[in-house]
Amino acid sequence: MTNQAAGTEIFTNDIVESIRSGDVGKMNNHGEVMDSRKTERTEETEDMNETRESVNGQKEGRDIPVLYLVVPCYNEEEVIEKSAQVLGDKMRRLAQAGRIAAGSKVMFVNDGSKDDTLRLLHRTAAQDTLFSVVSLAGNYGHQSAILAGMMTARQYADAVVTIDADLQQDIEALDKFLECYMAGSEVVYGVRNDRHSDGAFKKGTATIYYNLMHLLGSNVITNHADYRLMSRKALDALAEYKETNLFLRGLIPTMGFPSDVVYFDVKAREAGHSKYTLSKMVTLATDGITSMSTRPLRMISALGFVVFVFSFIMCIISLVDWAMGNNVPGYTTTMIVSLLIGGVTLLSLGIIGEYVGKIYMETKHRPRYIIDTFVWKEDPADKD
Ligand code: UDP
Ligand code: MG
Repeated sequence: MTNQAAGTEIFTNDIVESIRSGDVGKMNNHGEVMDSRKTERTEETEDMNETRESVNGQKEGRDIPVLYLVVPCYNEEEVIEKSAQVLGDKMRRLAQAGRIAAGSKVMFVNDGSKDDTLRLLHRTAAQDTLFSVVSLAGNYGHQSAILAGMMTARQYADAVVTIDADLQQDIEALDKFLECYMAGSEVVYGVRNDRHSDGAFKKGTATIYYNLMHLLGSNVITNHADYRLMSRKALDALAEYKETNLFLRGLIPTMGFPSDVVYFDVKAREAGHSKYTLSKMVTLATDGITSMSTRPLRMISALGFVVFVFSFIMCIISLVDWAMGNNVPGYTTTMIVSLLIGGVTLLSLGIIGEYVGKIYMETKHRPRYIIDTFVWKEDPADKD
């Protein structure tokens, strides 16, 4: 009832009983949180929103939100304790300043880490109810980890901000995110000011990538990398997108909610090294293009047409040559034509293959992630 939309995508094999009090948001194996308190709260808030919006047809300002920070972590043992401390501090300051409501949390998503990350996360969550841990059964990748976190968090939160575990993204920008939310934005995109903390390779490839994406018709926001606030309304809408090949950065702008942009500085990684290997980066880049646009397919048709015209002209030239008795050996021409056509055919097949592969994966309707364990405890102070 709380969440029909997550229905087929979360499977919980096991629930880590809360380390101290056993106060864990229980999920059945359809990922529905079976926590009656939450259900009531959700319904109440929705009713309130409805009334507020229907009184004069527009939003009259919002309540201070229950905010969840969703933090994907893959082999982050070097940085995770520092992150928990910095993010936790910020959340406490925001709560003290009355900018976020009681019950706000930092939700770590362990994306199948092979190092000590999960143990450290569980220890952190055992010490402080501010922290919650969703642990995935394997390494599903950054995008799926974020999705798992958002889909879990939306059952508790009014707004969710996704942020990397390495503290590269300036957490102080949260104030501006919240201002935009309070002003009525359903989605707020964090956009980095510049790329001075990146190497020349990353900077260069990123520029080419964003240009290519725009050329191919995908409306990604340049220099926005999943540091983003989404309201529960936007998350509920996102839950309706069932595609396996989910490219959040391209998809969310297409939903069309009122949105805003917040600029922030990017710092160097606090500790550890980038978990985005070259192959993960290439996968994300191709996914970004092929799951957002079919323009490459149309470009193949255009290319096919050009090659067809070219071949037709070549045929006429050859026939005329033959009729006039100019039977030159023509080795170069033959080579060029066959290589060109062979190359174009293979390239086209490759691109079509990418799309066929995508269709294949989509038809399987596999879950996009599997949650292995979940730790969530209510702060005793919030109970009443
Ligand atoms: N990450 C993840 N799964 C992966 C790879 C990365 O959850 O398979 C997380 C990682 O722990 C970090 C975030 O995604 O919190 C961004 O990764 P990273 O900082 O390594 O990427 P970069 O900033 O170098 O692009
Ligand atoms: Mg990083």
